Amino acid sequence: MTTTETIAPPKVTDKKMLIDGKWVEAASGKTFETVNPTTGDVICRVAEGDKADVDKAVAAARKALESKAWRNMAPAERGRLLYKLADLIEKNARELAALETLDNGKPIRDSLGGDVPGTAAVYRYFAGWADKIHGKVLPVAGPFHTYTRHEPVGVCGQIIPWNFPMMMQAHKWAPALACGCTSVLKPAEQTPLTALRIAELAMEAGFPEGVINVITGFGETAGAAIAAHGDVDKVTFTGSTAVGKAIMKASAETNLKRVTLELGGKSPNIIFADADADTAAKFAYFGCFFNMGQCCCAGTRLFVEDKIHDQVLENVTQRAKKTKIGDPFDHATTQGPQVSQEQFDRIMGYIGAGQKEGARCVTGGKRVDRPGYFVEPTIFDNVKDEMTIAREEIFGPVLSVLRFSDVDEAIRRGNNTMYGLAASVWTKDFAKAQRVAAGLRAGTVWINCYNVFDSSAPFGGFKMSGMGRELGEYALASYTEVKTVVTAIG
Ligand code: ADP
Repeated sequence: MTTTETIAPPKVTDKKMLIDGKWVEAASGKTFETVNPTTGDVICRVAEGDKADVDKAVAAARKALESKAWRNMAPAERGRLLYKLADLIEKNARELAALETLDNGKPIRDSLGGDVPGTAAVYRYFAGWADKIHGKVLPVAGPFHTYTRHEPVGVCGQIIPWNFPMMMQAHKWAPALACGCTSVLKPAEQTPLTALRIAELAMEAGFPEGVINVITGFGETAGAAIAAHGDVDKVTFTGSTAVGKAIMKASAETNLKRVTLELGGKSPNIIFADADADTAAKFAYFGCFFNMGQCCCAGTRLFVEDKIHDQVLENVTQRAKKTKIGDPFDHATTQGPQVSQEQFDRIMGYIGAGQKEGARCVTGGKRVDRPGYFVEPTIFDNVKDEMTIAREEIFGPVLSVLRFSDVDEAIRRGNNTMYGLAASVWTKDFAKAQRVAAGLRAGTVWINCYNVFDSSAPFGGFKMSGMGRELGEYALASYTEVKTVVTAIG
């Protein structure tokens, strides 16, 4: 789907949200601005939903869950609707990519070449599962016929972040809908536009009213109302670890809704001296700086074995210097702005902390001199494990380079973090790669590659990077309850 044909920033009108199949204003009448991070200009105003709107959406989702139209829909028909949505996403690829680039700032080459086809692929993958979700007959003792049913978990509250808005919506909606659940989804306040457009396409595909609902609004109001709602059966969240904790607490204090969390990371990328150093450096750059460093699995701690430290550092530094930063609608651009002023400020704060704590800033470290929230790709060398930039998730284009000298040290220091989302290891020694992969406490370990995703491969975190898994067959467990049915036959 790559093209070099010019795609202009689209004109966008003010937006309502979707409750029970209707496009509505917030009950309060309030709206908020969504901002173009490339310029700082307002794109449009969006309905500002809060608790009152969440209440309505949850009631609609409950009614839809119990409706004949959804409950009795043949599983294959649910799959067909998901396939149709995937087709509509592809049909509207250019418009969706342009909206994503406008609202989020990511380069059009990524939104068109990655996010849109990736989103369609996730819907297609789970479409295929819709009629293959079933229980088992169990060999119990006694004259009993015993089987399990995998039933939809129910009304799902789904709260998503701004770094991959369309992809995150697909990670939430595709498995939930395949399993027969209904959804109240809240996009991030920074990037509501593609969630709303895909909701329109889902209605066009033919999902019954109330099966999907979208509440646009802020985290502390609309998001918190979803997490604390007594009639939401399950909440799935992608975002920061701090908010993930708040969501779990709210769930515990109300109705023990099931919780799946996909949270932050501080992923180690470990390059051994026997690796192909140039390829490893190329992917070390990509692994950290892709999507302006706004990836939960970004390889932000680059551990390089002493012997090749200088070579790898020089290679990643040259890549940083050559990065094409600028208008994300230009097909040549590989780095756009950060998503918001708030994120920009946080990142600059971390860069300041790196400098203050004694790391050596090899390249970058400053704002790019143009409007919008642009940060130079920044690389720190001489980073120590205890420095703030080596411990905290920055969520920006900032790489920390650390040296190591043996395998056990690499595993120990790689694991020296509260996070455990992803990791990578580079070596030509198969046994060493396997040993490191087994030793790292992370939900995904890449060997001689980085950022390789597939709808069939589960994604999620160890430790404080989350709980549960998205994607793959494993995701189905998040959206089903297992019921055991026992019949006396003797
Ligand atoms: P970030 O700090 O990267 O913006 P957040 O974790 O704050 O990430 O946001 C991710 C999503 O969580 C967004 O949709 C946001 O509105 C929502 N959110 C933020 N705070 C809360 C909260 N207290 N309860 C529920 N959702 C929240």
